[in-house]
Amino acid sequence: MTLATLSLTQLRQKLLAREISPADIVRDLAARRDAVDPAIGAYLRFDADRALADALHADISLPLGGIPVALKDNINTTGDLCTCASRFLANFRSPYDATVTRKLRAAGAILLGRCNMDEFAMGSSTENSALQPTRNPWDTQRVPGGSSGGSAAAVAADTAIVSLGSDTGGSIRQPAAFCGVVGLKPTYGRVSRYGLVAFASSLDQIGPFAGSVEDAALLLHAIAGPDPMENTSRPIPVPDYTAALTGHVEGLRVGIPKEYFVEGLDPEVASAVRAAIDWFANHGARVTEVSLPHTPAATAVYYIIATAEASANLARFDGVRYGHRAPDAKDPLDLYRRSRAQGFGPEVKRRIILGTYVLSSGYYDAYYNRAQKVRQLIRRDFTTAFESCDIILAPTTPTPAFRAGEKTADPLQMYLADIFTIAANLAGVPALSLPCGFSSCGLPIGLQIIGPHFAEETLFRAAHAYEQAHPWKDRKPAL
Ligand code: GLN
Repeated sequence: MTLATLSLTQLRQKLLAREISPADIVRDLAARRDAVDPAIGAYLRFDADRALADALHADISLPLGGIPVALKDNINTTGDLCTCASRFLANFRSPYDATVTRKLRAAGAILLGRCNMDEFAMGSSTENSALQPTRNPWDTQRVPGGSSGGSAAAVAADTAIVSLGSDTGGSIRQPAAFCGVVGLKPTYGRVSRYGLVAFASSLDQIGPFAGSVEDAALLLHAIAGPDPMENTSRPIPVPDYTAALTGHVEGLRVGIPKEYFVEGLDPEVASAVRAAIDWFANHGARVTEVSLPHTPAATAVYYIIATAEASANLARFDGVRYGHRAPDAKDPLDLYRRSRAQGFGPEVKRRIILGTYVLSSGYYDAYYNRAQKVRQLIRRDFTTAFESCDIILAPTTPTPAFRAGEKTADPLQMYLADIFTIAANLAGVPALSLPCGFSSCGLPIGLQIIGPHFAEETLFRAAHAYEQAHPWKDRKPAL
């Protein structure tokens, strides 16, 4: 038997019982990775030797002691490459640890490797990686979702026990849904963004991928909390999330947003999500319809705000301070131009151009300012809805995983892959995706659970109770 298929919780039990050692886990994951990752491409780099060396010193008395964790390649780790899957940063080494990296180390975790992603986290399929493709473990003709596609695919393919990703508009939940794993975007401010390469700073959050709700709760506990290095992290204590895993949903008020069950929603996704809602209703939850009336505007608002912030955040990549430097520049301006033209891929350039446009004088009021106002309305939609419910249930994505190449020619089609996930980022509320069934061709379907700010415990409670009754997670892709 390989340890690679066990959960974090199971591995911790075996470690504490001294049945296995951390090195055994790393060895099994390395063997699994050698066997299946060539067909998936989840990892950009996997340092088995270093992980083995770290495993020998792991302190198993710590909460994640001896547990290997894979990171999305936009999370800084001292001395390691941090490429953001961009040619611009192909040789960039982090001068410092992100707060989540530091917290993982402090919790005894072993850093295992770095996962592929869309360049600078811009995309929904991981096809925007400038370094390599990643395929969906359930069907290698299909995408794993994005932008954290590598982090999701690694957990689905059992080449990682758990991993971290980042979610700006859906980049944890959408790949979690496509790959049949659990993924959580925490409340904005729950997890420090210090050391996460910024895409859109008012939307970005780091969060966990795991094979089960309990594992996701344990991983969030390790990385969450206030951080003096990051002033949008909030001084709110981190609860013991596993205490919320009661296994029942009695009395839980569940809202169903009518705007999420619309034309374009795949019928198999709709019926899997409807069946999940029925389960909640039949197990003591009180299900009511709610309205999030500004949902139709969310995608437009997101692509104004996210691109505006991206254009500002990516201004630092100038060929002088970080990463790629054009060798043939004539003067400083030419150096900026050439370095950026050579270093960034087409989607990143598209976002920088869009973002610069919406911020330019003359258009600022018409686009950026207006989008900020509508963002407030979207936020208010959630505040109002959560007056009458504790959680909202919805599909995570309009369809199961699409085919590689299917949407690459049409950016707008690609942007619509996130219609159900974007609003939670704009409102700053937490949202989790977990498997709720499979399509007729065997592709996973994701159920999204959205809660009020800092209500991660309620999300975990609801998700865990549903998961106990529906062990979809025990189904594994044939690799
Ligand atoms: N797919 C969305 C985008 O391309 C979201 C990406 C993300 O969450 N990082 O912007």
